[in-house]
Amino acid sequence: MVEARIINGKAFAASLRERVGVKVAAVTETHGLVPGLAVVLVGEDPASQIYVRNKGKMTEAAGMNSWTHRLPAETGQDELVALVDTLNRDDAVNGILVQLPLPDQIDSQVVLEAIDPAKDVDGFHPVNVGRLTSTGPGAESAGLVPCTPLGCLTMLKETVGDLTGLDAVVVGRSNIVGKPMAHLLLTQSCTVTIAHSRTRDLPEVCRGADILIAAVGRTQMIKGDWVKPGAAVIDVGINRVEPEEPGGKDRLVGDVDFAGAAAIAGAITPVPGGVGPMTIACLLRNTLTAACRQAGVAVPE
Ligand code: NDP
Repeated sequence: MVEARIINGKAFAASLRERVGVKVAAVTETHGLVPGLAVVLVGEDPASQIYVRNKGKMTEAAGMNSWTHRLPAETGQDELVALVDTLNRDDAVNGILVQLPLPDQIDSQVVLEAIDPAKDVDGFHPVNVGRLTSTGPGAESAGLVPCTPLGCLTMLKETVGDLTGLDAVVVGRSNIVGKPMAHLLLTQSCTVTIAHSRTRDLPEVCRGADILIAAVGRTQMIKGDWVKPGAAVIDVGINRVEPEEPGGKDRLVGDVDFAGAAAIAGAITPVPGGVGPMTIACLLRNTLTAACRQAGVAVPE
């Protein structure tokens, strides 16, 4: 029995993409500025190929320039860093995204640190990480913020309203989701707990959360009775589950037992159709922000 309000990420994302498109049209008309995003894909990971294709399509649909650089799986680290360097120096390119994961012969951190922080639309460069962690309450980071947590926060604020003083639990401490999510919630003056694989009594920790973020990568690990009645639950997890019947299709499920949690939570994101679509919409928003900052013009309201 679903009681919770379903947080419709597809609708939030469509609305954000549309607003970004309007702002892009405005800066193009007023300043002749056409933001541009370059995406680099190394190898042939099928999921990455789909993400990259979607990113390209949506970038163009928002009125921005899009370039995709496809490199073979055996590309060396120096070659990739050289491409990043070329993109850093190309004034038409305002945003650079190197699709992760990278093949084993490449150290992702070296590549991420090679990206000009001003063009780092994924927000993974240490300069942008540092700017986020030093952002004060109520302020917006002066850097670029990772897209997935930014999308989660946007949906939370629109759904819950003011987050001040709420108890937030983030399950997962990765650099791309858990940690930046926790820092964003701190900027909203939440009381933040970061849980992980070594956390003692995770169900009890989760039961204290007014806002529960699941970013683990384990199929339906978070059960309904871990959720505080009325809590807002954001499920970042994307887990592929084999079909129950032979010949069926794989299903995508989250880290939260949706049916169990939706009976207790006040609001919840579905998987698919929750956090995923917002990630790309926030990438477009970051690209516009980066382009405006580089050009020294204000992002239109
Ligand atoms: P990582 O594997 O990098 O991190 C997973 C985190 O979960 C780690 O901090 C780990 O703890 C913690 N964890 C693992 N097992 C447990 C457990 N049993 N109890 C408590 N904590 C646990 O994953 P990501 O952060 O990259 O991604 C998380 C999920 O989000 C994945 O399903 C991924 O596919 C999805 N994702 C979705 C995106 C979207 O756009 N919707 C974007 C990015 C990711 P420890 O540090 O102790 O090992």
